[in-house]
Amino acid sequence: MKEHLICFEPRGGVYEVGGRPLQELADELGATPFFAYDRVLLDRRIGELRACLPEELELSYAVKANPMPELLAHLQGALDGFDVASGGELAAALEAGADPERIGFAGPGKTDEELRDAVRAGVAIELESPTEAARVTRIGEQLGVRPRVAVRVNPDFMVRGSGMRMGGGPQQFGVDAELVPELVSELATRDLEFLGFHVFSGSQNLSAEILCEAQRRTVDLALELAEAAPGPVAYLNLGGGFGIPYFPGDQRLDLAAVGANLDQLLSERVRPALPEARVVLELGRYVVGECGVYATRIIDRKRSRGTTFLVVDGGLHHQLAASGNFGQVIRRNYPVALAGRTGGETETVTVVGCLCTPLDLLAEQVELPRPEVGELVLVFQAGAYGLTASPTAFLSHPQPREVFT
Ligand SMILES: *Cc1c(COP(=O)(O)O)cnc(C)c1O
Repeated sequence: MKEHLICFEPRGGVYEVGGRPLQELADELGATPFFAYDRVLLDRRIGELRACLPEELELSYAVKANPMPELLAHLQGALDGFDVASGGELAAALEAGADPERIGFAGPGKTDEELRDAVRAGVAIELESPTEAARVTRIGEQLGVRPRVAVRVNPDFMVRGSGMRMGGGPQQFGVDAELVPELVSELATRDLEFLGFHVFSGSQNLSAEILCEAQRRTVDLALELAEAAPGPVAYLNLGGGFGIPYFPGDQRLDLAAVGANLDQLLSERVRPALPEARVVLELGRYVVGECGVYATRIIDRKRSRGTTFLVVDGGLHHQLAASGNFGQVIRRNYPVALAGRTGGETETVTVVGCLCTPLDLLAEQVELPRPEVGELVLVFQAGAYGLTASPTAFLSHPQPREVFT
């Protein structure tokens, strides 16, 4: 295992979360598997973001990365807002105490009920299509509330190197850039508060160079669209897409380079044109991804025709991404370790989950220090797109617990 890949460092060979050995947490919970999120690592990450990015830039948390209530309550105090993409996430953000004015609601296929809740709450609705704009207008009239809206733009460029591309070309996300001027002039005739623009072009990018280029192009596009806006642009969401390392050979994102680029873009381009706008970045995995581990217990150890299998009590039903079935093109191992021992003589093992499918593979042919039945295996980089991005009902096992400590 490449130690530099992960933020957790063992103490005396023992991995801890929140200063507590994982085995101790397991004993206290009385059950495995579980997810554990580390408050100190989370705060450290937020501190790095604040230190590297321009002070005036607002940081919004994309709730879909990890909606655990205690985590949201903590992030509510530490970041500037939330991005939500469903009625459930909206409710979770409000429950965490978020100021509705600092919540953005993006995402395709918002139902009338979700839109009603969003209009009533006064959050910024990021319009994904002209028909959605029409529904929001009608709902505002029915409720007697003036909806606050921004337009989510599908940019006219693509960002290379993203793990998941969500902008450029035909998309279910946002309004094609070339159609935005017509839509915003139409919005100006309606009883809506027009806030500005949201451009999100992709996710999981590790290259500062590519992210900087995407940010430059996003600013160019936003400033061009701002000229068509009915009034001063109050809100400009530049997206995010900051990636984290998952695999050996992944280079950490050069956050300082991204920050310097944003600083320059803000002072030279955005501020002269849009002096009043709140400028926002929305980040999910970069905030929480590396502060979490998934801990699962070895139930069985078996040899089959030359391969040693460790069968654990968890699996892809909790941590789908680690199995390689969450959008990955090629399956590679997430970093794994034993919770209670490092070093010593190692052996090559394959860690599989308890589901009756060959897809349930957590780590293939990895070196671990002679793991025994009963020990805890940790899968790192489990803070984002873990539990709620996994098919927990598959095979009818109990829900795993989550701790934030
Ligand atoms: C998923 C999503 C994000 C968060 O992406 P990360 O890779 O977790 O940072 C941000 N914005 C939008 C619109 C999203 O759909």
